[in-house]
Amino acid sequence: MTPLYEGKAKRMWATENPDTLRMEFKNDATAFNGEKKASFENKGRLNNAISTLIYGMLEKEGVPTHFVRQIDETNVEVKKVDILMVEVIVRNYSAGSFCKRTGMEEGRKFSQPIVEFSYKSDELGDPLINDDYIREMGLASPEDMAHLRKSALKVNAILTDFFARCGLKLIDFKLEFGRLASNPEVIVLADEISPDGCRLWDLKTGEKMDKDRFRRDLGNVMEAYEEVLGRVKENLA
Ligand code: ADP
Ligand code: UDP
Repeated sequence: MTPLYEGKAKRMWATENPDTLRMEFKNDATAFNGEKKASFENKGRLNNAISTLIYGMLEKEGVPTHFVRQIDETNVEVKKVDILMVEVIVRNYSAGSFCKRTGMEEGRKFSQPIVEFSYKSDELGDPLINDDYIREMGLASPEDMAHLRKSALKVNAILTDFFARCGLKLIDFKLEFGRLASNPEVIVLADEISPDGCRLWDLKTGEKMDKDRFRRDLGNVMEAYEEVLGRVKENLA
Protein backbone atom coordinates (compact mmCIF):
# COMPACT_ATOMS: atom_id res chain seq x y z
CA MET A 1 0.00 0.00 0.00
CA THR A 2 1.15 3.53 -0.69
CA PRO A 3 -0.13 6.57 1.14
CA LEU A 4 -2.20 9.14 -0.75
CA TYR A 5 0.26 11.72 0.52
CA GLU A 6 3.45 11.60 2.52
CA GLY A 7 4.36 14.85 4.25
CA LYS A 8 7.21 15.81 6.53
CA ALA A 9 5.52 14.64 9.73
CA LYS A 10 2.48 12.60 8.67
CA ARG A 11 1.13 10.22 6.06
CA MET A 12 -2.43 10.37 4.77
CA TRP A 13 -4.08 7.08 3.79
CA ALA A 14 -7.36 6.24 2.08
CA THR A 15 -9.97 4.28 4.06
CA GLU A 16 -13.01 2.26 2.96
CA ASN A 17 -15.04 5.40 3.54
CA PRO A 18 -14.53 7.88 0.66
CA ASP A 19 -15.24 10.77 3.03
CA THR A 20 -12.55 9.94 5.58
CA LEU A 21 -8.78 9.47 5.68
CA ARG A 22 -6.38 7.80 8.06
CA MET A 23 -3.81 10.28 9.29
CA GLU A 24 -0.60 8.63 10.50
CA PHE A 25 1.80 10.55 12.73
CA LYS A 26 5.44 9.76 11.91
CA ASN A 27 8.47 10.00 14.17
CA ASP A 28 10.16 12.36 11.71
CA ALA A 29 10.85 15.95 12.69
CA THR A 30 11.82 18.76 10.34
CA ALA A 31 12.57 22.43 10.85
CA PHE A 32 13.55 25.44 8.76
CA ASN A 33 11.37 24.36 5.84
CA GLY A 34 12.74 20.83 5.84
CA GLU A 35 16.43 21.78 5.95
CA LYS A 36 16.96 20.26 9.39
CA LYS A 37 15.79 16.67 9.80
CA ALA A 38 15.73 14.10 12.58
CA SER A 39 13.67 11.23 13.89
CA PHE A 40 12.55 10.83 17.50
CA GLU A 41 11.29 7.60 18.97
CA ASN A 42 7.68 8.07 20.21
CA LYS A 43 7.15 11.41 18.50
CA GLY A 44 4.27 10.06 16.41
CA ARG A 45 2.61 8.54 19.46
CA LEU A 46 3.02 11.68 21.58
CA ASN A 47 1.75 14.11 18.94
CA ASN A 48 -1.19 11.86 18.12
CA ALA A 49 -2.13 11.57 21.79
CA ILE A 50 -1.83 15.33 22.43
CA SER A 51 -3.64 16.29 19.22
CA THR A 52 -6.44 13.78 19.81
CA LEU A 53 -7.10 15.12 23.31
CA ILE A 54 -7.05 18.73 22.12
CA TYR A 55 -9.33 18.07 19.17
CA GLY A 56 -11.75 16.28 21.50
CA MET A 57 -11.76 19.34 23.76
CA LEU A 58 -12.26 21.77 20.85
CA GLU A 59 -15.16 19.71 19.51
CA LYS A 60 -16.76 19.82 22.97
CA GLU A 61 -16.34 23.61 22.95
CA GLY A 62 -18.21 23.77 19.64
CA VAL A 63 -15.30 24.12 17.20
CA PRO A 64 -15.99 22.02 14.08
CA THR A 65 -12.94 19.90 13.22
CA HIS A 66 -11.94 17.06 10.90
CA PHE A 67 -11.49 14.67 13.84
CA VAL A 68 -13.47 11.42 13.77
CA ARG A 69 -11.73 8.96 16.13
CA GLN A 70 -8.38 7.70 17.28
CA ILE A 71 -7.55 4.38 15.58
CA ASP A 72 -4.40 3.45 17.48
CA GLU A 73 -1.26 5.00 19.00
CA THR A 74 -0.12 6.71 15.80
CA ASN A 75 -3.28 6.87 13.66
CA VAL A 76 -6.51 8.84 13.64
CA GLU A 77 -9.46 8.81 11.29
CA VAL A 78 -10.29 12.27 9.99
CA LYS A 79 -12.84 13.74 7.62
CA LYS A 80 -11.27 14.27 4.23
CA VAL A 81 -10.92 17.96 3.42
CA ASP A 82 -9.54 20.16 0.68
CA ILE A 83 -6.93 22.04 2.66
CA LEU A 84 -7.00 25.81 2.23
CA MET A 85 -3.52 26.84 1.16
CA VAL A 86 -3.48 29.46 3.92
CA GLU A 87 -1.75 28.73 7.24
CA VAL A 88 -3.28 30.69 10.09
CA ILE A 89 -0.83 31.72 12.79
CA VAL A 90 -1.95 33.19 16.11
CA ARG A 91 0.57 34.92 18.36
CA ASN A 92 0.10 35.90 22.01
CA TYR A 93 3.78 36.63 22.73
CA SER A 94 6.63 37.59 20.43
CA ALA A 95 8.76 34.69 19.17
CA GLY A 96 10.14 33.02 16.07
CA SER A 97 9.68 34.73 12.73
CA PHE A 98 7.87 37.67 14.40
CA CYS A 99 11.11 38.55 16.23
CA LYS A 100 13.19 38.01 13.12
CA ARG A 101 10.93 40.31 11.12
CA THR A 102 10.61 43.08 13.70
CA GLY A 103 13.75 42.88 15.82
CA MET A 104 11.59 42.67 18.95
CA GLU A 105 12.98 40.55 21.79
CA GLU A 106 11.38 37.17 22.44
CA GLY A 107 8.60 36.79 25.00
CA ARG A 108 6.88 40.20 24.88
CA LYS A 109 3.13 39.81 25.56
CA PHE A 110 0.93 41.41 22.93
CA SER A 111 -1.94 43.68 24.01
CA GLN A 112 -4.20 41.56 21.77
CA PRO A 113 -3.53 38.35 19.85
CA ILE A 114 -1.98 38.77 16.40
CA VAL A 115 -3.54 36.72 13.60
CA GLU A 116 -1.42 36.33 10.49
CA PHE A 117 -1.50 34.23 7.37
CA SER A 118 1.10 32.48 5.30
CA TYR A 119 0.88 30.87 1.89
CA LYS A 120 1.21 27.11 2.38
CA SER A 121 4.00 26.51 -0.13
CA ASP A 122 7.18 24.64 0.81
CA GLU A 123 8.69 25.80 -2.49
CA LEU A 124 8.30 29.46 -1.52
CA GLY A 125 9.04 28.89 2.19
CA ASP A 126 5.49 29.65 3.44
CA PRO A 127 5.68 33.43 2.87
CA LEU A 128 3.65 35.86 4.96
CA ILE A 129 0.60 37.11 3.03
CA ASN A 130 -2.42 39.27 3.88
CA ASP A 131 -6.14 39.26 3.16
CA ASP A 132 -5.68 41.18 -0.10
CA TYR A 133 -3.09 38.66 -1.37
CA ILE A 134 -5.38 35.80 -0.38
CA ARG A 135 -8.33 37.32 -2.24
CA GLU A 136 -6.30 38.03 -5.38
CA MET A 137 -4.55 34.63 -5.30
CA GLY A 138 -7.99 33.04 -5.06
CA LEU A 139 -7.00 31.09 -1.95
CA ALA A 140 -10.13 32.02 0.01
CA SER A 141 -12.97 34.52 -0.17
CA PRO A 142 -13.21 37.51 2.19
CA GLU A 143 -16.14 35.71 3.89
CA ASP A 144 -14.01 32.60 4.38
CA MET A 145 -11.20 34.75 5.77
CA ALA A 146 -13.53 36.36 8.29
CA HIS A 147 -14.54 32.86 9.35
CA LEU A 148 -10.91 31.69 9.66
CA ARG A 149 -9.95 34.70 11.76
CA LYS A 150 -12.94 34.24 14.07
CA SER A 151 -12.34 30.49 14.44
CA ALA A 152 -8.62 31.00 15.06
CA LEU A 153 -9.33 33.52 17.82
CA LYS A 154 -11.87 31.20 19.39
CA VAL A 155 -9.36 28.32 19.32
CA ASN A 156 -6.78 30.68 20.81
CA ALA A 157 -9.08 31.64 23.68
CA ILE A 158 -9.86 27.99 24.45
CA LEU A 159 -6.25 26.82 24.18
CA THR A 160 -4.74 29.76 26.09
CA ASP A 161 -7.07 29.06 28.98
CA PHE A 162 -6.56 25.31 28.86
CA PHE A 163 -2.75 25.43 28.62
CA ALA A 164 -2.65 27.96 31.48
CA ARG A 165 -4.36 25.31 33.61
CA CYS A 166 -1.57 22.96 32.47
CA GLY A 167 1.03 25.46 33.70
CA LEU A 168 1.96 26.39 30.13
CA LYS A 169 2.04 29.71 28.29
CA LEU A 170 0.70 29.48 24.74
CA ILE A 171 3.14 31.71 22.86
CA ASP A 172 1.96 31.09 19.29
CA PHE A 173 0.59 28.34 17.05
CA LYS A 174 -0.34 27.43 13.50
CA LEU A 175 -3.72 26.18 12.30
CA GLU A 176 -4.88 24.71 9.01
CA PHE A 177 -8.44 24.64 7.76
CA GLY A 178 -10.14 22.76 4.94
CA ARG A 179 -13.42 22.33 3.09
CA LEU A 180 -15.16 19.03 3.75
CA ALA A 181 -14.85 16.74 0.72
CA SER A 182 -18.41 15.63 1.45
CA ASN A 183 -19.71 19.22 1.68
CA PRO A 184 -17.34 21.94 0.41
CA GLU A 185 -19.50 24.68 1.90
CA VAL A 186 -18.33 23.65 5.35
CA ILE A 187 -14.87 24.70 6.53
CA VAL A 188 -13.40 22.81 9.49
CA LEU A 189 -10.19 22.87 11.49
CA ALA A 190 -7.81 20.20 10.10
CA ASP A 191 -4.27 18.86 10.49
CA GLU A 192 -2.86 18.57 14.04
CA ILE A 193 -2.40 20.61 17.20
CA SER A 194 0.76 19.50 19.01
CA PRO A 195 4.08 20.88 20.28
CA ASP A 196 5.26 20.63 16.64
CA GLY A 197 3.06 23.58 15.69
CA CYS A 198 2.62 25.44 19.00
CA ARG A 199 5.12 27.25 21.16
CA LEU A 200 4.53 26.35 24.80
CA TRP A 201 6.62 27.72 27.66
CA ASP A 202 6.49 26.51 31.24
CA LEU A 203 4.63 29.17 33.25
CA LYS A 204 7.01 29.02 36.22
CA THR A 205 10.43 28.42 34.65
CA GLY A 206 9.91 29.77 31.13
CA GLU A 207 11.38 26.54 29.78
CA LYS A 208 10.50 25.78 26.15
CA MET A 209 8.31 22.67 25.87
CA ASP A 210 7.89 22.47 22.09
CA LYS A 211 9.66 22.02 18.76
CA ASP A 212 12.02 24.91 19.50
CA ARG A 213 13.94 22.34 21.60
CA PHE A 214 14.69 20.57 18.31
CA ARG A 215 15.11 23.75 16.23
CA ARG A 216 17.62 25.14 18.73
CA ASP A 217 19.29 21.88 19.83
CA LEU A 218 18.16 22.32 23.42
CA GLY A 219 17.95 18.56 24.02
CA ASN A 220 15.28 16.50 25.82
CA VAL A 221 12.83 17.07 22.96
CA MET A 222 10.61 14.05 23.59
CA GLU A 223 10.87 14.49 27.36
CA ALA A 224 9.23 17.89 26.89
CA TYR A 225 6.49 16.48 24.62
CA GLU A 226 5.88 13.70 27.17
CA GLU A 227 5.56 16.32 29.91
CA VAL A 228 3.06 18.29 27.81
CA LEU A 229 1.00 15.12 27.23
CA GLY A 230 1.04 14.33 30.96
CA ARG A 231 -0.22 17.82 31.84
CA VAL A 232 -2.87 17.77 29.10
CA LYS A 233 -4.16 14.40 30.34
CA GLU A 234 -4.17 15.54 33.95
CA ASN A 235 -6.12 18.72 33.21
CA LEU A 236 -8.69 17.15 30.93
CA ALA A 237 -9.49 14.51 33.51
P1 ADP B 1 3.54 18.78 5.22
O1 ADP B 1 2.66 18.64 4.02
O2 ADP B 1 3.69 20.22 5.64
O3 ADP B 1 4.85 18.08 5.10
P2 ADP B 1 2.41 16.81 7.12
O4 ADP B 1 3.56 15.89 7.13
O5 ADP B 1 1.82 17.20 8.43
O6 ADP B 1 2.71 18.22 6.44
O7 ADP B 1 1.33 16.17 6.19
C1 ADP B 1 -0.03 16.18 6.41
C2 ADP B 1 -0.71 16.80 5.21
O8 ADP B 1 -2.08 16.47 5.23
C3 ADP B 1 -0.63 18.33 5.25
O9 ADP B 1 -0.32 18.80 3.96
C4 ADP B 1 -2.03 18.76 5.68
O10 ADP B 1 -2.37 19.99 5.13
C5 ADP B 1 -2.89 17.64 5.14
N1 ADP B 1 -4.11 17.37 5.90
C6 ADP B 1 -4.33 17.53 7.23
N2 ADP B 1 -5.57 17.16 7.58
C7 ADP B 1 -6.19 16.75 6.44
C8 ADP B 1 -7.50 16.25 6.14
N3 ADP B 1 -8.41 16.11 7.09
N4 ADP B 1 -7.79 15.96 4.84
C9 ADP B 1 -6.85 16.13 3.87
N5 ADP B 1 -5.60 16.58 4.09
C10 ADP B 1 -5.26 16.90 5.36
N1 UDP C 1 4.43 26.88 12.52
C1 UDP C 1 4.15 25.62 12.03
N2 UDP C 1 4.39 25.35 10.72
C2 UDP C 1 4.90 26.26 9.86
C3 UDP C 1 5.17 27.55 10.36
C4 UDP C 1 4.94 27.83 11.69
O1 UDP C 1 3.68 24.77 12.78
O2 UDP C 1 5.07 25.95 8.67
C5 UDP C 1 4.17 27.22 13.92
C6 UDP C 1 5.44 27.31 14.75
O3 UDP C 1 5.71 26.07 15.38
C7 UDP C 1 5.10 28.37 15.77
C8 UDP C 1 4.09 29.27 15.05
O4 UDP C 1 3.58 28.50 13.98
O5 UDP C 1 4.46 27.79 16.88
C9 UDP C 1 4.70 30.55 14.54
O6 UDP C 1 5.82 30.23 13.78
P1 UDP C 1 6.80 31.34 13.19
O7 UDP C 1 6.09 32.12 12.14
O8 UDP C 1 7.39 32.10 14.30
O9 UDP C 1 7.85 30.52 12.39
P2 UDP C 1 9.18 29.76 12.71
O10 UDP C 1 9.67 30.12 14.05
O11 UDP C 1 8.78 28.34 12.55
O12 UDP C 1 10.05 30.27 11.61
